[in-house]
Amino acid sequence: MTILPPAASPVTVIGLGLMGQALAAAFVAKGHPTTVWNRSAGKADRLVADGATLADSAASAVEASPLVVVCVSDYDAVHGVLDPVGSSLAGKTVVNLTTASSTQARQTAEWAAKLGADYIDGAILAMPQAIGTAEATLLYAGSKTAFEKHQATLQTLGETGTVYLDEDHGLSALYDMSVLSIMWGVLNSFLHAAALLGTAHVKATTFAEMATTAINVTADYVTAYAEQIDEDTFPATDATVNVHVGGMQHLLEESQALGVSTELPKFFLELARRAVADGNAEDSYAAMIKQFRKPSA
Ligand code: NAP
Repeated sequence: MTILPPAASPVTVIGLGLMGQALAAAFVAKGHPTTVWNRSAGKADRLVADGATLADSAASAVEASPLVVVCVSDYDAVHGVLDPVGSSLAGKTVVNLTTASSTQARQTAEWAAKLGADYIDGAILAMPQAIGTAEATLLYAGSKTAFEKHQATLQTLGETGTVYLDEDHGLSALYDMSVLSIMWGVLNSFLHAAALLGTAHVKATTFAEMATTAINVTADYVTAYAEQIDEDTFPATDATVNVHVGGMQHLLEESQALGVSTELPKFFLELARRAVADGNAEDSYAAMIKQFRKPSA
């Protein structure tokens, strides 16, 4: 296996939307010979001015580099671009940073294998502005050999946040969705809380510091509860599900009385009541994992 020094490794970037442009710009800034291609004209102008090479077709973009990074809107677009140039992909490493489901990622890995390409599915946990900085986390799953071959180049995109997960191509997408689930859960709870306090004219900016403390304190539970989940034992060393149910009822009543949305407290309460009905009343909150493992009715 030949491992080129990072700055000498050529790379192709297909898709020059907001994210694709940021990816290509990071490679150019680090001195990688960078070939770019986009469906519509015009989006490569700044990159070309900075030193990138604009390919005249997707086929010549693929042929230009051993490492082909793809970042387009969705997987239909991925196949729309790559299917017609499939015969050029043999021997290449395709790193697909387009957001997907784990099923799409695994299916695309099978498609790439038939073409003789190494395939890595990636997920970007960052805004375009963070690409190339210490703020960017990028997750990769798939061929470990191919990842290690191109690791130094890929680290250009997220110096400390380049994470290889597993040979299972679906895992980066699954982590991506899991992290988003946490983000929306926390953000919706913050917004509900800010709406509650807003009824008493407490500004969100006044609440922000306490909200951040609450989020950090909650984070401490994650480690302890993760152990309980993996061991499948739920001793209530802090509070039982029953105690949580009492608090949730107060949250629902308060929300109703103040005329703010009751959707979130109702959801909390419904899940917790189901856990009680399933016999988890005296267990720790982590026992609620059983409610999340079931498909919804
Ligand atoms: P974007 O600005 O909307 O760009 C979309 C890109 O996809 C453009 O290059 C577009 O080409 C191309 N495209 C769409 N349909 C196509 C097709 N049928 N054939 C060929 N090319 C096609 O989106 P983005 O923000 O760059 O996001 C790209 C991917 O990164 C998405 O999967 C997104 O979920 C993921 N992502 C984005 C962010 C973010 O903050 N932006 C963060 C994490 C992950 P044209 O220019 O020709 O339309």
